[in-house]
Amino acid sequence: MTGSNDVTGFDTLAIHAGQAPDPTTGAVVPPIYQVSTYKQDGIGGLRGGYEYSRSANPTRTALEECLAALEGGVRGLAFASGMAAEDTLLRTICRPGSHVIIPNDAYGGTYRLFAKVLAAWGVVYEPVPLGDLDVVRAHVRPETVAIWVETPTNPLLGIADISALAELAHGAGAVLVVDNTFASPYLQQPLALGADVVVHSTTKYLGGHSDVVGGALIAADTDLGDRLAYHQNAMGAVAGPFDAWLTLRGIKTLGVRMDRHCANAAKVVSLLERHPRVSRVLYPGLPRHPGHDIAVKQMRAFGGMVSFRLAGGEEAAVRVCERAALFTLGESLGGVESLIEHPGRMTHASAAGSPLQVPGDLVRLSVGIEDAADLLADLEQALA
Ligand SMILES: *Cc1c(COP(=O)(O)O)cnc(C)c1O
Repeated sequence: MTGSNDVTGFDTLAIHAGQAPDPTTGAVVPPIYQVSTYKQDGIGGLRGGYEYSRSANPTRTALEECLAALEGGVRGLAFASGMAAEDTLLRTICRPGSHVIIPNDAYGGTYRLFAKVLAAWGVVYEPVPLGDLDVVRAHVRPETVAIWVETPTNPLLGIADISALAELAHGAGAVLVVDNTFASPYLQQPLALGADVVVHSTTKYLGGHSDVVGGALIAADTDLGDRLAYHQNAMGAVAGPFDAWLTLRGIKTLGVRMDRHCANAAKVVSLLERHPRVSRVLYPGLPRHPGHDIAVKQMRAFGGMVSFRLAGGEEAAVRVCERAALFTLGESLGGVESLIEHPGRMTHASAAGSPLQVPGDLVRLSVGIEDAADLLADLEQALA
């Protein structure tokens, strides 16, 4: 059961797409096919198309079909991590001399992949503020093969207009890539807005339980989907069966989790907005956020990530991170448990001195799905 979100509701797809009961046993959940190879009935006589688990594995297929359905794409591919998915995509679409526009506040690992790995192979990357379409247009070159979008961005929660950027990219003969990790397909569907391929770190909201690292690519058309699938097999950074199974298990509750993440984040935002120690709250749900109108247009709700700046500067920000108790001090995001971190010294430390450096007085929250009252009490004591 796969298909577009127009014919079947999102939560139904999350629970059933790619996950028909097992034909031999009736198991209602796809089993963990912990296997590397498959018996052939005569040479090339494959049962169900499986020959070797790097090329395809039934548990991974279930996840890949579910991901394709949730993003409204024609092909989903599951990888060992978000970075493995990005690397496979970029080495499929780039050649030496290719130019890629990336957000000037891109995820640090994405920036590092361009700056430290792909640049050595002749790929030219350019960090640009994606919120300003005229600036983006001015940076497009004949060699531009892709515009890479993140929205909302990490950790500054910037918003980019996906449909306008898709039009711009297509006008230049480039593809539009959207890293949809922060929103998840429940809140935002980039392919329906004109993007060509969606990237995920499934480690975050899709997996949702901080127990598995994974990545995904979802393509809007068969040609790109086939090329990506070829490279997935040729390069080999696939998701293992157990990781695919855990991710699929997490996806079943994505919709209900996201509703709670968003509701709790809204309560956290209103506490922070009123707090005298907080100088600024960064959240696309706030009407004065510069991307608010676009967020309203392209997102179902505003997500569970909240960043804020401390009037007391960097030392105050570090102190809040270390005093928080229910908000666990740690990297990553998107799990059921709330996390707090200091991007300047933790997730984005490697961006120091680069165009992607973040302010020292910044704190990032991944608001979990615990009781809101407990989360608010913890923030109050951490800020006191
Ligand atoms: C975490 C993250 C990645 C990288 O994914 P991994 O699973 O850690 O390899 C990419 N993009 C964004 C926005 C992320 O938050």
